[in-house]
Amino acid sequence: MMKKEAQKSDVLIIGSGGAGLRAAIELKDNGVDVLVVGKSKKRDAHTILATGGINAALGNMDPKDSWRLHAADTIKDGAYINDPIAVKLLCKNAPRAIKELADWGVKFHREKDGSITQRFFGAATYRRACFVGDHIGKEVLNILVDQAKKRKIRFKGEVYIFSLLHHKGKVNGAVGLDFRHGRVIVFHAKIVVLATGGHSRLFERSSSRFWENNGDGIQLAYDVGANFMDMEMFQFHPTGMVWPSEAVGTLVTEAVRGEGGILTNTKGERFMKKYDPKRMELSTRDIVSRAIYTEVEEGRGTKLGGVWLDITHRPKSYILKRLPKMYKQFMHYLNVDISKQKMEVAPVAHYSMGGIFVDHTTGKTSVKNLFAIGEVTSGMHGGNRLGGNSLAETMVFGRLTGQRIVKELGRVRWLPLDEKLIKEKEEDLNSMLKAKKGKDPIKVKKEIQNIMWKDVGVVRNARGMKKALKAITKYRKVKLKSGNRLKNNQKLIAALDVKNMFNSCEMIVKCARLRKESRAAHYRTDYKKTSERWKKNIICIPNKYGKGFKITTWKVPEVPKEIKKLLKVKAVKVHLLE
Ligand SMILES: Cc1cc2nc3c(=O)[nH]c(=O)nc-3n(C[C@H](O)[C@H](O)[C@H](O)COP(=O)(O)OP(=O)(O)OC[C@H]3O[C@@H](n4cnc5c(N)ncnc54)[C@H](O)[C@@H]3O)c2cc1C
Repeated sequence: MMKKEAQKSDVLIIGSGGAGLRAAIELKDNGVDVLVVGKSKKRDAHTILATGGINAALGNMDPKDSWRLHAADTIKDGAYINDPIAVKLLCKNAPRAIKELADWGVKFHREKDGSITQRFFGAATYRRACFVGDHIGKEVLNILVDQAKKRKIRFKGEVYIFSLLHHKGKVNGAVGLDFRHGRVIVFHAKIVVLATGGHSRLFERSSSRFWENNGDGIQLAYDVGANFMDMEMFQFHPTGMVWPSEAVGTLVTEAVRGEGGILTNTKGERFMKKYDPKRMELSTRDIVSRAIYTEVEEGRGTKLGGVWLDITHRPKSYILKRLPKMYKQFMHYLNVDISKQKMEVAPVAHYSMGGIFVDHTTGKTSVKNLFAIGEVTSGMHGGNRLGGNSLAETMVFGRLTGQRIVKELGRVRWLPLDEKLIKEKEEDLNSMLKAKKGKDPIKVKKEIQNIMWKDVGVVRNARGMKKALKAITKYRKVKLKSGNRLKNNQKLIAALDVKNMFNSCEMIVKCARLRKESRAAHYRTDYKKTSERWKKNIICIPNKYGKGFKITTWKVPEVPKEIKKLLKVKAVKVHLLE
């Protein structure tokens, strides 16, 4: 018999990163009873990894900047398949988000006159990224947690939500495993918000931590029949660490290049001259990632499959002030002083542009009473994400979605919990515990991640993706043995992760196969050109309650006129060294 607990709240937010917490604050400020659940501890969501900055067209350094130019940059970088309404909302509301964070106590780097300093990020026309050294994410999350505590917002950490509950097609709760105490929790709510983050851990080399970003939110939404958009669009960040083993994938922030970092191959060539002579190291992430990939593939990479990133021309005092986390990271793992030695780097899976389809004007998914915010959603970033835009997204859409839920709540009734469904979900968990034979789920998870990295990674083609799909289909049938403990059982958690990964992987591969072109982050060696015909969004529509899915395409909505005219404006000359 499993130990059980029941929780009830008007709104249940699954995810305690930037997006989840910002929405919770908005709800609480409007008198809503809200409960936030996270897989990790309170101050430990993936958001803390954010390093370089948060974008807003404040115009502090470059007065010519405007929200419209920010929007145009976002759409150009997204290769014209972004949801333009989402982009407009983000860029118009981002300055307000910065002010709010500053008022709450985020200690942004400031100029002598007290204005917030802004720096370049790749593919941005003007300096737009506001920062706190190179640890903006930690600072933002800490402040949000402080604000949530001040408001006495209910929080449950170390709980793995493994299923949503529904009544006649409307979501009304969730079931989770409190793995610290070894008990099942049944959550009853009028509205559920998915703020579960991205799915970069579907790939072997990822900038997230090993227990995060498995695509849980995608599977939870899939299971209740939500629609998905542009799942093939996945951002590979050009620069992650390549060694030691425990640090592989750990991000080397774009801010290093923003501060003037130079990329060279083992022949000492500054190779970005060949790939984007104008923007060089500050080109878009997809171009820089493929450039590094090509240099390595063609034999000009290091033995560990990387290239060199050099910031040694900057004084140590400058590096310690502007890139303190990077300095510590290389000292900690490798005893490398980046003010004197080069960094060895290679691309890593970094950001999920594709995800749950939401109507960004309401935050609603295609399933009743289910909302989604943050990296788990799609549309905002199109085919590629501008660095600094996702923290802005969590703040802006956290607030806006909170406001929309406040309005919606008046129309939503309490729906009874389906005891039969809860029993079924518990049985699923029970059967995992009972398995006497099977493979180690931790190993299986790694094997799937390897397949995705090799065949559906930085560079793709039909042959590789066919192979990946075949392997994923095979792995679905593999029996897993996780041991019979409910409490602190890493194998059980990995088994839940594996179960969550299949549909995300399958949607990514099938959408990537369908998109017969290269566009932004999606690069195919068998279709190298971008095709006007494919200026579309690819939509996955699950069959009733998660039994397979069909794929279709939708026309990208019209870009508002005020932004459209700026799409033709050429970017100003980027100042590599400020
Ligand atoms: C190394 C790195 C550097 C970055 N730098 C920047 C930057 O400089 N600027 C920028 O704008 N963006 C940056 N990003 C991206 C940005 O950090 C993320 O996109 C953003 O923080 C996502 O926030 P989120 O709230 O959507 O999700 P997350 O912060 O990922 O939060 C997800 C939450 O959901 C919970 N969760 C997930 N599954 C479950 C489950 N099954 N049950 C219960 N809870 C669950 C998690 O525990 C967590 O609390 C960076 C990302 C990385 C990895």
